[in-house]
Amino acid sequence: MLAPGEPWQNWGRCEAATPLHVARPSSVDEVVEVVRFARDNGLAVKPVGAGHSFTAIAATTGIQLDIAAVEGVVAVDGNRVTLAAGTNLHQLPALLEPFGLALANMGDIDRQTVAGATSTGTHGTGGAFGGLATQIRAVTLVTADGGILRVSETENADLLPAARLGLGALGVLVDVTIECVPAFLLRAVEKPERFDDVVDTWAQRVADTDHFEFYVWPHTDTVLSKYNTRLPVTADRRPLSRFASWWEDDFMSNTVLAAKLNLGVAVPRLTPPINRFATRIVGDRAYTDLSHEVFVAPRRTRFREMEYAVPLEAVPAILREIRALIDAKGWRISFPIEVRAAAADDLWLSTASGRATGYIALHRYYREDPTEYFRTIEQIMISYDGRPHWGKMHNRDAESLRGAYPHFDDFVAVRDRLDPGRLFGNAYLERVLGA
Ligand SMILES: Cc1cc2nc3c(=O)[nH]c(=O)nc-3n(C[C@H](O)[C@H](O)[C@H](O)COP(=O)(O)OP(=O)(O)OC[C@H]3O[C@@H](n4cnc5c(N)ncnc54)[C@H](O)[C@@H]3O)c2cc1C
Repeated sequence: MLAPGEPWQNWGRCEAATPLHVARPSSVDEVVEVVRFARDNGLAVKPVGAGHSFTAIAATTGIQLDIAAVEGVVAVDGNRVTLAAGTNLHQLPALLEPFGLALANMGDIDRQTVAGATSTGTHGTGGAFGGLATQIRAVTLVTADGGILRVSETENADLLPAARLGLGALGVLVDVTIECVPAFLLRAVEKPERFDDVVDTWAQRVADTDHFEFYVWPHTDTVLSKYNTRLPVTADRRPLSRFASWWEDDFMSNTVLAAKLNLGVAVPRLTPPINRFATRIVGDRAYTDLSHEVFVAPRRTRFREMEYAVPLEAVPAILREIRALIDAKGWRISFPIEVRAAAADDLWLSTASGRATGYIALHRYYREDPTEYFRTIEQIMISYDGRPHWGKMHNRDAESLRGAYPHFDDFVAVRDRLDPGRLFGNAYLERVLGA
C-alpha cells in the first residue's frame, strides 16, 4: 500500500513537501494498517485532502495519507448523512439529490474534501449560519494507537467540540455525519454599491439577508454586493443562461482576471484604473438556482490568501483602516477583499467560537509577493482580536493564539490525550498548537 513519496505542492503554490511514502488506502482497515505501520516505524503520518489550504497544515515529510479512495455515502438517517472522509464537496449534489437534501451553507468553491474542509473551519457566509464543522454531528477517527474512535452526541461526546474541527491533529477522520437540510433554492442578487453605504449598514445587511457578502475593490469607492435569499425548492427556478454563467463566473472571473492580474504585475501603476474599469463591467445580475449552483463558482486563477475572523461589529472600522493603509503605503492591489459573516458557534478552535463573526479575506495573485501586504494588515487584525483561518496564510504561533481562543488549552489537552507521541504532527501544528 505504500509507494515512494513524490514532491507535493498545495493549490496556491506556496507550500511544498516531499513525503517519504505515500499511502492510498481504499478502506478503513487499510487506514488502520497505515497508521499502525507509521507508529511501529516511528514515522509521522498526515492525511491530505485536496491540498487547498494555503498553509502547510497538510504538509509532511513522513507518510502522506491520501484517502481520496475512501469516499461516498456510508449511511443516511433522516437529514443526517454519513460520508466517507475523502468525499469531495463537488460530489455532494449528486449524492444528496436522491434524498432531497443539501448542505445548509457552503463556501466559494467545492474542490475540498469533507474531512479537509471541516478540519480547517471552512465557512461560507450568513449571519445565522456556521461553517461546515457546525453542521457535523458525529465523526469516526483512526487514532494514534491504531484504534477506531467514534465521537457523537452519545459516544465520547466530550470530544465533539474538538473533533469536528481538529486541524488534522487528533487522528485520521474516516467518516463524518453531516446534518443536511431539505434541498433549497437561492435567489441571488449581485450589484455594485458604494463602499460607505454598505460598510455603514454592514451589520443590518447581515441581519436582513440569509447570506450576505461583498467584495471591496481597492483603489475604488465601489463594492460588489451579493445577497442570497433562501427559497423552497418548489419556487420558480430562474438560473443564469449557460452563456451568462460561463461569461461571468468562468471567463470574466478566471480568464479575464488572470489577464488583468498579469498586466498589473507587468505595469503596477495600471492596477487602480483596471480595478475601476472592472467594477463597471462585473456583477449586476439576479437569478434563482439550486443552492450549490449559487454558493460555488470555479476558481482557476491561482492566488494566495490570508483571512481573519473578527468580531462582526469591528468590520467597518477594520476595512477603513485597511483602505487607508493601502493608500498610505502606495500598494497596488488588484484582487478584491472579500467580506463575509457567520453565527457564533461552540467549537473550541472555530474562528467563530463564542462570537458573531465577520470574515475579511485578502488575496494576492500567486505571481506577486504577498508578504508585506499580509503581514502589515495582520497587525490590524490582531489589534481587533482577530483569529486567522487555519487553512489560510498567517504568522501566528501557539503563544499568540492561546489568548485568542478561550478553549485553546482544552483542545491541547485532547491532543495530548489522543496523540501524545505526535504521530499526526507536522511543523505547522507545532507552530500553532505547540510541541
Ligand atoms: C480557491 C480556494 C477557495 C477557497 N474558498 C474557501 C471558502 O470559501 N471558505 C473557507 O473557509 N475556506 C476556503 N478555502 C480554504 C479551504 O476550504 C481549506 O483550506 C480546506 O481545508 C481545504 O480542504 P482540502 O480537502 O484541500 O484539505 P487539505 O488542505 O488537503 O488539508 C487540510 C487539513 O485537513 C486535514 N485532513 C485532510 N483529510 C483528513 C482526514 N481524513 N482526517 C483528518 N484530517 C484530515 C489535513 O491533514 C490538513 O490538516 C479555499 C481555498 C482555495 C484554494
